[in-house]
Amino acid sequence: MIKKLLVIFCLIIFICCGCTWKTEKPINDLDTIINRGELIVGVKTDTYPFGFKNAKGKFLGYDVELAKLIARGLLGNDQKIKFVPVSAYDRMIKLDSKEVDMIIATMSVTPQRQQILDFSTPYYTAGQAILVKKGSKIKNIHNLKGKRVIIVFGSTSERSIREAVQDVGIIGYKTYTDAYKALKQSKGDAIVADDTILYGFAYKDNNVVLLPKRYSKEPYAIAFRKGNESKQLIKSVNEIINTETRNGNLKRLQQKFGLK
Ligand code: GLU
Repeated sequence: MIKKLLVIFCLIIFICCGCTWKTEKPINDLDTIINRGELIVGVKTDTYPFGFKNAKGKFLGYDVELAKLIARGLLGNDQKIKFVPVSAYDRMIKLDSKEVDMIIATMSVTPQRQQILDFSTPYYTAGQAILVKKGSKIKNIHNLKGKRVIIVFGSTSERSIREAVQDVGIIGYKTYTDAYKALKQSKGDAIVADDTILYGFAYKDNNVVLLPKRYSKEPYAIAFRKGNESKQLIKSVNEIINTETRNGNLKRLQQKFGLK
């Protein structure tokens, strides 16, 4: 009997200690970032003017600048940041494996993605468009029937083009740089992607043309792992986005990168 009581007593102590331990050490992403003293952000390197690198390997672009504003808001210093290159193809994997705290990478909010990720309030709206070589007979989405369309794996256009056009050949690449090269080498007849990204190519190259029509609304937002761990972080990030919108900093950044 005494033995039994002793076991029960020990169990009670164990459970209580366990509970105390759990409440003393809440795991949440905001605390992790603050304790680390550095924000780790996944950004693109192939999507001018949102995420790209200069000749010296420096990360530049609207998303990169936005990430710095978030670091300043969370840690009081926009230099306390590490950038990890991501693509449309691998960004969710890098977020899920905790290689990054968040993704700021031309990422659209979609109902499918909202099932597995959480998003901040949107900070920009793009739209899907078509990029062709100069002199192409393709003038709109209907002309893509029976043609070879280039997309980037993991992007929203990979899905939408299959739904919008029947009898279309899809050629996929892992990066926008490779997709653009493929168009130049006539491996495909057109690229379907966000106007913001395609505009970057058309701006630098007179031999490609961005067609005027837009086929979707792509609200860009910052992506987080789904769950309680992210809640506090998302709240803080949304407050920063609101502040930077109100004080005109986001507008100024858009102008700096030639965005509408
Ligand atoms: N905004 C679209 C998306 O989230 C296309 C841009 C991208 O590939 O990142 O998929």
